[in-house]
Amino acid sequence: MYYSEHKRYVKNLTVHHIWEVLRDSPGVRTRPRGLADVQSTNRLEADCLTTEFGALSNIVAAARDGNGKLITMNASGKSGVAPPKVLKRVVIIGGGATGTGIARDAAARGYDVVLIDRGELGNGTSGNFHGILHSGARYAVNDVAVAAECFQENQLLRHIVPSAITDTGGLFVALSDEEVIHSRVLISACANAGIPVQVLTAEQAFQVEPGLSKSLKMAFTVPDGFIDGAELLRLNRLAAVEAKVPATFLTDHIVVGLERTGDAVSSVSVRDTRTGTVEHINCDYVVNASGVWAGEIADMAGLRLDMVYDKGAMLIFDQQYNRAVLNRCRPENDGDLLASHAGQSIMGTTSRIITDPDDCSPTQEEIDILMHEGAAMVPALRDAKILFAYAGVRPLLKENGKRHAPNTRSMSRSFRVLDHTEQGIGNFISIVGGKVTLYRRMAEAVVDLLDVKSSR
Ligand SMILES: Cc1cc2nc3c(=O)[nH]c(=O)nc-3n(C[C@H](O)[C@H](O)[C@H](O)COP(=O)(O)OP(=O)(O)OC[C@H]3O[C@@H](n4cnc5c(N)ncnc54)[C@H](O)[C@@H]3O)c2cc1C
Repeated sequence: MYYSEHKRYVKNLTVHHIWEVLRDSPGVRTRPRGLADVQSTNRLEADCLTTEFGALSNIVAAARDGNGKLITMNASGKSGVAPPKVLKRVVIIGGGATGTGIARDAAARGYDVVLIDRGELGNGTSGNFHGILHSGARYAVNDVAVAAECFQENQLLRHIVPSAITDTGGLFVALSDEEVIHSRVLISACANAGIPVQVLTAEQAFQVEPGLSKSLKMAFTVPDGFIDGAELLRLNRLAAVEAKVPATFLTDHIVVGLERTGDAVSSVSVRDTRTGTVEHINCDYVVNASGVWAGEIADMAGLRLDMVYDKGAMLIFDQQYNRAVLNRCRPENDGDLLASHAGQSIMGTTSRIITDPDDCSPTQEEIDILMHEGAAMVPALRDAKILFAYAGVRPLLKENGKRHAPNTRSMSRSFRVLDHTEQGIGNFISIVGGKVTLYRRMAEAVVDLLDVKSSR
């Protein structure tokens, strides 16, 4: 959680709640400084609770445990250990949603951040995705935990990065009897995940989305939105460079090596892709947030990380055919989603395993499928003009060396934070998987782990 957003977000946490959490932390013996001062209001405002880490940290309360170690609590209500007092340098590899989110959070907590990307920010999947701020409903049947996480982040991001989000709403549409049956399963799964839905009559659905197919049998709303990837990355970068210890962003620099000293990576070698100059950046920690390229970076440190490259194609049409994000109500398949933004509609997506993440153009077969499935939901798409077709690659981790199924839709859309201490490198963390919708939570998990490591 970022300091600048505390005021808005922590209002729902009472002082009592914070103390309850801290009191249960092992060995906590003193009431956090500052808590007494605001108790009379019974409401927490971050400004009232400046800890000894001050505005640099994401911490809203702190207490010492029996050994004198600081136990802290951030604005999400999570307790943890204190961040470092001595400036520690974190080199983040990857300038997508994940890497820039980590840069923002780490800079806010007082780390000396250097982020490196081989191209511009958004050069990878975060610049080539569908743009949907997921409500989580799509995942509710297969993975209720991910669905609930998406919904929580969906709500939170509207406050944290408002200029990147358009509240389009979302609509699930059932076009056959099987899809009506699936709707019922999905609605009940959404209830389990805490995702609000509202069932519409056909008449109401056509009022909201006049372009829908007349085969419509059932529709219900979900709180999907549109998230502008470029604006999100800009906001994350801005927050990171405006932190008290400003982050450094080295774009157009490719990581070509990781130098090890004992059980740590001591420096990161980068080549300026415009001049060819190579430099070595000393580091205390390295975060591998390089998406589908995470295996290549891990390899430079002598580690193995098996990624599955799952390509998805999308089409952009020259007109806006819908307002809400339209979701086909069936088990996930090719061509289930039609988003819209700034006078255009974006149809997606597919799922094809590829062998090279740098070679991911959409094929004619994928374009045909997307046209066909799009027209099933919105018939006018049959004659729509495609402005361009593009593709992105999902950074999925192959678990335990398992062979992946031909279709990766059964693979989790959750994320994994990998602490490589067990493989012999104590200051190297990889983060893989996830969604743009989950980027803040992913960043928080990584920086929480950095805090734990740096307080040892
Ligand atoms: C087709 C498709 C549609 C999707 N739609 C959605 C959606 O609608 N909503 C949603 O929430 N999620 C969506 N996702 C998922 C989401 O886009 C990804 O999970 C997310 O963008 C991954 O972000 P990242 O920062 O982890 O990786 P990336 O954005 O790929 O960032 C990794 C960065 O690492 C850099 N890098 C790699 N190697 C090096 C190196 N050697 N040196 C320096 N830099 C390097 C790359 O240039 C890249 O910029 C979609 C994914 C796909 C494939």
